[in-house]
Amino acid sequence: MPVPVYYLDARANSTGTSALSKIRALLAKLVKESPDAVRAHDLCAIKIHFGEVGNDAYISPVFAKAASDAARQAGAKPFFADTNTLYTGSRSNAVDHLETAIAHGFVPEVCGAPVVIADGLRSDDWREVELPSACTRFKTAKIASGFLAADSMIVLSHVKGHEMAGFGGAIKNLAMGCAPAAGKRDQHCVKFQVHDKKCISCGRCVAVCPTGAATIPVGKGAKARIDKAMCIGCGECLAHCAPKAISMDWSVGLDEFTEKMTEYALGALNGKAGRALFVNIVTKVVPLCDCAPWSDLPVVPDVGFLASTDPVAIDQAAFDLVKAAPVWPGSALDGKASAGDDKFTAMHPETLSELQMSHGQLIGLGSRDYELVRL
Ligand code: SF4
Ligand code: SF4
Repeated sequence: MPVPVYYLDARANSTGTSALSKIRALLAKLVKESPDAVRAHDLCAIKIHFGEVGNDAYISPVFAKAASDAARQAGAKPFFADTNTLYTGSRSNAVDHLETAIAHGFVPEVCGAPVVIADGLRSDDWREVELPSACTRFKTAKIASGFLAADSMIVLSHVKGHEMAGFGGAIKNLAMGCAPAAGKRDQHCVKFQVHDKKCISCGRCVAVCPTGAATIPVGKGAKARIDKAMCIGCGECLAHCAPKAISMDWSVGLDEFTEKMTEYALGALNGKAGRALFVNIVTKVVPLCDCAPWSDLPVVPDVGFLASTDPVAIDQAAFDLVKAAPVWPGSALDGKASAGDDKFTAMHPETLSELQMSHGQLIGLGSRDYELVRL
């Protein structure tokens, strides 16, 4: 039987219909359909990405308040949560991460609940959970204690592109977002290489590399090098290299990365059977993750808002809606794709977006068989 995915488009008008009212309506529908998901006295984790400094496509704290209000109406105690990043940047420890969240408006006065960095000060607060035998890449997953200790979850995901996952939605938000640095490292198995002819020796890859794998040897005209033994595959250098001199080494498959990521999403829901709700915000569908310290033009016009109890179904619906949408003129996909094309593969040609959904279905994370229900 198809899983319902509730949908409202992004139109607003003078009769009181706004984006915020639509997100509230979707959450109210979910809570009504699944009254046991978020219960009175729960510590309810609202999983969100606070955005890297410089990014402006992350979910607005004004929208996020709809989730904290929904949790409070159910009698729960909500908190917003994310984990520290693997790479250097504005969210690699809890102090920087909290300051970034505050700078982006995630204060109780705006979003309606406190912020907790779920894997602690230096990303060392986590537990290992067992994964079902259907998982083929991992037997266990390392998940941040703050998420495991929560009674219930509302997973608020911004749908956008990603240089390694292709599509970024609920599955990726759960997988990378609920894992401490050690768990993120487990998932990243892709290696990178430098193309000498394109490298301008700017040193940006060296500056952002968290392990020292990227270096520029001393000497006139020397080009960047990546030590594959030291590289943890975080992709930071790729995202920061302006002349696109860095590429993935395709001898290490993105199928492995994508399946590992999907199995971590299942780990993030450990102990939360029937206790998690999902909302996908399909607006500002930009080429890269909210971890990028900038936001390019969206590649499609704003699609709208989705809600479901199933992370696979909601991601499949988001993927399909973006696929059906026309391309935004002047964006990175202008002239390169059109309505009906897979925008995520068009943006990141070697990635395997839909493997998240197919592998997710295989391991019991959810179902690709959904029914889009327009409220
Ligand atoms: S960021 Fe790119 S161009 Fe700059 S040094 Fe590294 S590989 Fe070369
Ligand atoms: S060289 Fe490897 S570890 Fe360093 S930034 Fe690039 S992907 Fe990350």
